[in-house]
Amino acid sequence: MKMKLAVPKESNDSRVALAPDAIAKVSELGLSVIMQKSAGEQAYFPDESYEGATFLNREELLQTADAVLSIHPLSENELDLLSAGTVVISQFQPFNDERIANRLRERDLKGFSLDVIPRITAAQSMDILSSMGSIAGYKAVLEAAHYLPRYFSMMITAAGSIRPAQVLVLGAGVAGLQAIATARRLGARVEAFDTRSAAREEVQSLGAKFIEVEGAKEAEDSGGYAVEQSEEFLERQRKEVQARAKNADVIITTAQVRGAKAPLLIPADVVDAMRAGSVIIDLASSTGGNVALSVDNEMVERKGVKIVGNSYLAALMPQDASQLYSNNVVNYLKLLFRDGALHLDMDNKIISDTYITKPEKSNEANAENQ
Ligand code: NAD
Repeated sequence: MKMKLAVPKESNDSRVALAPDAIAKVSELGLSVIMQKSAGEQAYFPDESYEGATFLNREELLQTADAVLSIHPLSENELDLLSAGTVVISQFQPFNDERIANRLRERDLKGFSLDVIPRITAAQSMDILSSMGSIAGYKAVLEAAHYLPRYFSMMITAAGSIRPAQVLVLGAGVAGLQAIATARRLGARVEAFDTRSAAREEVQSLGAKFIEVEGAKEAEDSGGYAVEQSEEFLERQRKEVQARAKNADVIITTAQVRGAKAPLLIPADVVDAMRAGSVIIDLASSTGGNVALSVDNEMVERKGVKIVGNSYLAALMPQDASQLYSNNVVNYLKLLFRDGALHLDMDNKIISDTYITKPEKSNEANAENQ
């Protein structure tokens, strides 16, 4: 009998982990796909479009699954419905939730966390954080344009001239760079800052100005992720940012440090110094926020400045977001399964980094044969 890969409907997200064209690709790996009824509906992928998949209700789905693939982890109660040995593939955020691996182990589940895929060339086609980050950066600009009571582009009309909007992007990783590109396409003037010096050229190549702050700690051994900066550096950075923020119509913050609270880049007094009508979009709100006043999943207003806290903007573009997530996942599944069975190649960095419930070192050899 083929191993069954189950795809539940996401509870608080309009995306789905597999798009219709993935069914044939997954079946080539020797797995059959079972899906929760209407799992793709909110991403505009109706059940009929999943040719070759079987549809079940949620409870049946989880009870029959050999592997479960989702965007957000299942709840604790739902994990209890899974049989021992089930493979669970999701974004478990093991750096923010240190106990997650043990909670999965206690239930005898094999956990694979897609959000810790290493930032190496071989893993680019599986990098869900980049796919979702790029959409979030794009959407952040569109959200800001929606709330801003002004044009983004310069306008010269018979009724008078309008200056272009001034946009400040903090954190120029995947999301930040896409935000810069999108804001530029809309005609805004853009300034950006990142602690990684490699970001300077990328920012400049998109036609934005890079804000120079001396003395950033580099992230050489951290696999492409940022490291925490010294208090002294952060203070200098805050001063630079404060000066720019006063002139910004839009601020988009994307700064994250893996396994740590997001750095506070915009304190309340900086918000107070901004012009009424300005907009801040904080993409780091779910890990504490880059903006002192931002509230995760809410829009708050302070003296005419709107502050949107949203780390899941990719969910507002569910069709392409699901398609890209699905493409990334299929590439990952090609590594994880061979001839319809789990293939734990612990010499492969992508597998060993993402296998969060792997047995401790001494037992690792046995794991390969499980
Ligand atoms: P992220 O979402 O973890 O962080 C976003 C950005 O915030 C990063 O660029 C980080 O340097 C920046 N940041 C952290 N602290 C800051 C501070 N105090 N002030 C200003 N900025 C701060 O990162 P990400 O966007 O997912 O990826 C980061 C980088 O990793 C990418 O830009 C890229 O260079 C690299 N990457 C490599 C690959 C690959 O080679 N396969 C894939 C994806 C990303």
